[in-house]
Amino acid sequence: MGDPSLRRPPHAARLTVEDEPATSERYDRPMQAILFDWDGTLVDSLGTLYDANAAVMQAFGVPFDPDLYRTHYAPDWRLMYRRLGIAAERLDEANELWLASYDRGAGAIMFAGVKPALRRLKRAGHRLGLVTAGDRDIVLPQLERFGLANLLEVRVFGDDLPVHKPDPAPLSRALADVGLAASPAQAAYVGDAPDDMRMARTVGTHAVGIASSLGDPAALRAAGALEVAASVPEWVAGYLADSSAA
Ligand SMILES: [Mg+2]
Repeated sequence: MGDPSLRRPPHAARLTVEDEPATSERYDRPMQAILFDWDGTLVDSLGTLYDANAAVMQAFGVPFDPDLYRTHYAPDWRLMYRRLGIAAERLDEANELWLASYDRGAGAIMFAGVKPALRRLKRAGHRLGLVTAGDRDIVLPQLERFGLANLLEVRVFGDDLPVHKPDPAPLSRALADVGLAASPAQAAYVGDAPDDMRMARTVGTHAVGIASSLGDPAALRAAGALEVAASVPEWVAGYLADSSAA
């Protein structure tokens, strides 16, 4: 299985996020919609994704390790593969090998507490959605397997648009779908990669970072995260504890 360093460390739930403003200073009023990234944010899939990428790079003779992955990572896999050293004319070939190597999400595990946290948000009146770089035929079966399909009503998949994060288009489409195209600040985007934060800030949504192997708190903040939590359930608990949001 994947490189252990890419998996969420067991102490992650106790990760202390310092220098946070008081919750009452974070939100003038509750968000109307909360939109989530998928891999590494709601589900623990970064290890299996790493394995598939490692198999491709090994076949192509391209150096690859966790540090190179983190440094060159991009939600747009074509961009990431070019950064890693795959020639443009061999991207289709690399993609075929990746598809043959990837378990298509079969090994992904939903992070503990995610489903109850999303239910709490929904009960508190929020519309919930997904903006992922993952393709529809890979992510949708996982949504159904984990019982999240009814909770995440708005979905933008990686193959819905020709552009990817940090391009603002995927998030803009989700905002339009929840009726917030003209008021993006009334939505939050929650993700684990620096490009998630860049997309959120470009669009004008509240950027929430979830610490992961692709984005430690410092990197997420540098990319524009307004707050960083160790997990989605931790962030939801803090957000709902704000009396105006509960
Ligand atoms: Mg992610």
